[in-house]
Amino acid sequence: MIVVTIGREGCISCGQCWGSCPQVFIEDPEDGKSSIIEGYRIAGKVDEGSAPDQFEACLKEAEEACPAEVIRVSPIQPSFD
Ligand code: SF4
Repeated sequence: MIVVTIGREGCISCGQCWGSCPQVFIEDPEDGKSSIIEGYRIAGKVDEGSAPDQFEACLKEAEEACPAEVIRVSPIQPSFD
């Protein structure tokens, strides 16, 4: 799984992320900012999610394309404890 966070306070609602990765990002109808699609939210949070590895490429694309640099994408590291 890939963990993705959106710093929504800095989001300028440009649409890049839901344009390049609509499987994970959506425009929030309430404030027009980017949100995680409901099915991938962590604990129901709109700004934090975990998505399947198959979306890694488009998530990275969204991270790089975000003009406000508020998207963070990282793979979940296996635990060796
Ligand atoms: S690309 Fe960045 S600034 Fe644009 S809508 Fe997505 S999170 Fe907001």
